[in-house]
Order: sequence, then C-alpha cells, then structure tokens
Amino acid sequence: MNTANLKSFFPFFKHNPDLTYLDNAATTQICQPALTAINEYYCRSHSNVHRSSHTTAKANTNQFEQVRQKLAHWLNADSSKEIIWTKGATEAANLLAYSLSNQFSSGDEVITSITEHHANFVTWQQMCIKLNLKLKIVRLTDDLKIDLTHLESLITPKTKVLALAHVANATGVKQPIEEAISIAREINPETLCVIDGSQAVCHLNLDVKQIDADFYFFSGHKMFAGTGIGVLYGKQIRLEQLNPFHFGGEMVNQVSVEATSFNQLPYKFEAGTPNIAAVFALGATVDFLSEIQTDTVRQRESQLIDYLLHQLQQVPNLSILAKHDLVGAVSFNISNWHPSDVSEILSQMNIALRVGKHCAMPLFNEINQDGSVRVSISLYNDKQDIDKLIAALLDLENFL
Ligand code: PMP
Repeated sequence: MNTANLKSFFPFFKHNPDLTYLDNAATTQICQPALTAINEYYCRSHSNVHRSSHTTAKANTNQFEQVRQKLAHWLNADSSKEIIWTKGATEAANLLAYSLSNQFSSGDEVITSITEHHANFVTWQQMCIKLNLKLKIVRLTDDLKIDLTHLESLITPKTKVLALAHVANATGVKQPIEEAISIAREINPETLCVIDGSQAVCHLNLDVKQIDADFYFFSGHKMFAGTGIGVLYGKQIRLEQLNPFHFGGEMVNQVSVEATSFNQLPYKFEAGTPNIAAVFALGATVDFLSEIQTDTVRQRESQLIDYLLHQLQQVPNLSILAKHDLVGAVSFNISNWHPSDVSEILSQMNIALRVGKHCAMPLFNEINQDGSVRVSISLYNDKQDIDKLIAALLDLENFL
C-alpha cells in the first residue's frame, strides 16, 4: 500500500482541505475502511448479535466474534475471552473499579500517578472514597516521568491496584510501565496492574504479553475507528475473578425468580445490545492498520515529533513541559500568552489543537500551570502541518 499520502484514506481531510489537524490525542480521524464497515452493516446486514438465529443475525454474530479474535491476535492476547467490548476507555476504567470493589476492604491501597487522565484518576479516587481505601499518588521526575524510586516506596502488602497510563495524554510522555509493573510485582505479587493505553494504541505496537499488565484498555476513536467502542483486555484468570459490571440480556446463564448465574467470559461483561457497527469498524481499522503501520510509518511519526521539538525552538518565550520519550504529542506554554488565546488565534488560522488541562487537573496543580497548548500528531500528519503551525506561532503577535 502506498503510505506516502495517508490523508487520502481519511475522508475528513477531503472535506476540510484547509484545516491543519493537530488534535489527535483528543480524537483521531476515522479511516475509510471503518466508515465502509459501518455503512455496510446498517445498509446490508443490520440485525442483532448473539440472539436471533436467522441468516443475517448468524452472519453478524460470526463477524462480531471474528473481530474479537482479530483484536486478541493484534494485541497478542492468549484468547478472545480476554477481550471485552466497552464504550471506550472511560467505561473500561469504571468497569474495573466497580467490578473489583468486592475484592477490597477498608485500609487497602490503590496507587495511581499525578499525571493520569481523569478517567484513570477520578475513577480510582471515588472508589477509594466509597470503600475507605487509601489512594497513593506516585510523584513524577523533572521530565514528568513516573518516579520509580517513589513508586517502590509506596507499594506495601496492602497495595491492591497500580493504575497508570502507558503514555500521558497531557504531556505525551511515554511512561516506564514495564518497569513499574515489575517493581510492583516484586514487592507485592498480588498487585493488580491496570494500564490505560488510550494514547499508546495508535503509536506503539502493543503486545499485552510483553507488557504483562493484568488489564489494559483504550478507546477505538483514538485509533481511527470512530466513537462508541473501546477495548478492555484482561488476563483470563483476573477477569474470571471480577464481578459483572452491568446486568441484563446476554450476560446471564440461568435466571430464575430467586437467582441468576452469569455467562462465561467475555459475555459476562457485555450486558445488552452492543455497538455492533462500531465493533465492525474497529475490525476494519485493525486490518487497515496492519497494512499501513509499517516500521517506516512509525519511524516517520517519531521523526515528526523530533522535527516539531526542533522547530518549536524558533518560537520566542516558549517552554515545553516535557521533552524526552514523547509519543505523539508535545505540550508547551508561551509566556504572556494564555493557552486559550493561543488556541483561539490558531483556530482562526485553521489550525486545530487542544489547550487547557487536558482532563489531567492534578498534574497542572502539581506543576503550577494554568494549562498548556498540546500539539498531537498522527500517522497522516506531515512536515507541512508542522511548518504551518510554526509559522502561525511566529505570527501570533501580529495577529492581534
Ligand atoms: N485516558 C487517556 C490517557 C485519554 O487520553 C483519554 C481520552 N482523552 C481517556 C482515558 C478517556 O477516553 P474516552 O473519553 O474515549 O473514554
């Protein structure tokens, strides 16, 4: 496949030819194969899965489960039973916190970091408040990485969960999750390691066996598949120990007036009619990515981050939050400019990016900043996009 102009696989760019889209950490554009899958499902084969036995329904059920197998294979999971469909990363985090809660008792500890997205922070914080658990927060080093020495000092026999992001959304910093997991397991082998892969999924080759987390989750819209679908991977043995999250159709085995027994994995966690079209879109996206995410494309992406870091040096009074081990994003501030004003002017210049606290308020409180400007790239961005951004940043003063 010709990967020189990847924008051509994303209809959004045809409809917005003058827009420079640098807000991929918020959401990536949906790829044509995903759109086709959604269209085909609704136009040609719309029916439910795992319920009716007519031809279309059966074909859909087969396809639905094939996509699950595809995802298991793509993530190098042991089995498709380890792949749970969710609405997205936020729902996956909530599912975990809720379903695990019966395994904890007052005084147990949960560790997370100060740089987490609220989905992987507020969820655990609220669970701790409700169950009277102790929430411990890992500090960061000067380059905004998890401080592994501090982490080591936090883990005790009471530690139940370590919840960290693979790549921090506010800063783009790739965190040393493999090291963190092995430190946690060494001190307390019972620690459940939960990794939020939302900002890693479209930039890194994911191998859940190698990462060795107990749970790993992400959203489909961060990997070109559109909204409304997410994946929660869990080691089978861990998933089996969890209580169901939602109750309803298809997550049951037997139901009587007195009692209910629950379905096997993964259906135990998938009550109600799922987002079938979005699952098909995710499957089509994985096929597409398997073809285009070559080493060359990955290398181009990381070169683009280096180029962005280099070019940003031209902009006066600009300070970058973190400069090392960046994956997909760079976050910065320009002194005397409020991030919102920067965004407003750039938007008028047809450049889309995100400013603010990026759903990571504890981080910005910690580093004492009002927010930041975040430039986030993806495989379809190129040097011209960066050049346009830099020219706009150099022109900020004149624009007023
Ligand atoms: N975690 C991280 C690191 C994220 O970047 C995001 C989305 N910005 C989420 C969780 C939440 O994802 P969603 O809103 O798709 O549930």
